Amino acid sequence: MKPAPFTYHRARSAEDAVERLAAGDGMARLLAGGQSLVPMLNLRLAPAADLVDIGAIESFRRHEELPGALRIGACVTHGTIQRGEIPDPANGLMARVAAGIAYQAVRNRGTIGGSMALADPSADWVSLLVALDATVEWVGQQGAQQGPAAGFMLGAYTTRLDFSDVLTALVIPRLSSNARFGYYKICRKTGEFASSLAAVINDRQRRYSRVVLGATGGAPIILGETSLLLATAPRWNQAMPDEIIAAFNQDILHTGRDFSEVALSQHRASVVRAVKESLI
Ligand SMILES: Cc1cc2nc3c(=O)[nH]c(=O)nc-3n(C[C@H](O)[C@H](O)[C@H](O)COP(=O)(O)OP(=O)(O)OC[C@H]3O[C@@H](n4cnc5c(N)ncnc54)[C@H](O)[C@@H]3O)c2cc1C
Repeated sequence: MKPAPFTYHRARSAEDAVERLAAGDGMARLLAGGQSLVPMLNLRLAPAADLVDIGAIESFRRHEELPGALRIGACVTHGTIQRGEIPDPANGLMARVAAGIAYQAVRNRGTIGGSMALADPSADWVSLLVALDATVEWVGQQGAQQGPAAGFMLGAYTTRLDFSDVLTALVIPRLSSNARFGYYKICRKTGEFASSLAAVINDRQRRYSRVVLGATGGAPIILGETSLLLATAPRWNQAMPDEIIAAFNQDILHTGRDFSEVALSQHRASVVRAVKESLI
């Protein structure tokens, strides 16, 4: 199918994009890599009278070294991260995760900011950036704002962004050189959206340990008990799977969420495997 007619605008700056969104009265949409939006337009699932292309905004394609962190512009593509064309504050984990997103053509155009803004529950960055304790930066009619990646996504395809807000960058704390991590994504074919994923960061030098469960149908879940277990766990041993599963079960109980047996068994498996990777 072809999309319904729309007017195309090329934004010159973040402020210009905000103005155009605000003027669009809810019928204007940002276009970043277009890898999710264009199929939705073609299927007429996302009505848009105006498309505001942010791909040419120079600052959105840049990265910047900060003390202890890296700021990544919203329009940096998965492919740029995968190929190591910008520094990896997570010691190679971001490049590895980027390499598992879709296929090369999608990675060459799809952006980290577009992925966060879209907030597909099964996507990779929405969970990994929570695990890395990233900060999301955006600008809107109220000016510049920022907030932790944890809590940015409110539910499936819903974030803290208002209709005229533009996500500008992500700030990712740098892991210590001896930090350990694990990432496990369950999907039917390489590069597909996950049916379960777990992201684990164990940076004891920074006293930071976090286990995040993704692809839950809603926002990623920080597994508190499992994170505590990880923070004090010795190296991997035979008793660990049972201990992780006990902690995981407690965490799921606390969420009050209802998962099918199939989903639960996938989530258990991804968490155990990701924690194992971080401890061996
Ligand atoms: C076949 C296929 C397989 C895929 N597999 C995976 C996968 O395994 N894992 C995964 O994580 N993703 C996957 N994706 C999604 C892919 O990563 C998309 O690129 C990404 O979700 C959206 O990024 P984009 O830059 O293309 O955004 P667009 O499609 O341009 O925009 C998506 C939405 O976000 C909004 N938006 C974009 N940028 C901003 C911004 N800066 N501020 C505010 N709003 C903004 C747009 O208005 C639109 O509503 C897949 C996509 C395809 C087509």
